[in-house]
Amino acid sequence: MQYLNKPNYCLSCGEKLLQKPDENNKIRHYCPACGWTYYANPIPAAACVVMNNENELLLIKRKNEPKSGSWALPSGYVEIDETAVECAVHELEEETGLIGNTGKFIGYFFENSSIYKRVITFGFLMNITGGSLKPGDDAVAARYYQMNELPDIPFSSHNKIIAIIKKEFDL
Ligand SMILES: [Zn+2]
Repeated sequence: MQYLNKPNYCLSCGEKLLQKPDENNKIRHYCPACGWTYYANPIPAAACVVMNNENELLLIKRKNEPKSGSWALPSGYVEIDETAVECAVHELEEETGLIGNTGKFIGYFFENSSIYKRVITFGFLMNITGGSLKPGDDAVAARYYQMNELPDIPFSSHNKIIAIIKKEFDL
């Protein structure tokens, strides 16, 4: 899949976009009809760290791109009407069937994306309060892994989050 390229047409009115430098000499694509300007920003995502009583880490097997078929932390892109915290809570429930809330904020991590060019992932340690483990939505499988037997995870942000957790919990 290709990177999302700059649009050629206005996303608001459909007019063909023109280019001009802004005050900082950065080339911007803008609409001569309605004034809409295209700004490329990183897409926000949230990722969940869930550990069981044996300090095993919950991973899901991804159904969809990017990286379909790979294992990853339960995660997803932040919708326009939610916070990163709300995103973590709803992605956890959708992908794993577990209900919970966010505990410690682990940090945020930038990475390049095959679809969205650049993503910023907010990592949270999750407290589980209910539900039962069952893969759903973007996940075809969900299971706990021992920290020293984790499968390959293709997202650098997830690997950084896991490295921080391992250090913090001395695993
Ligand atoms: Zn326009």
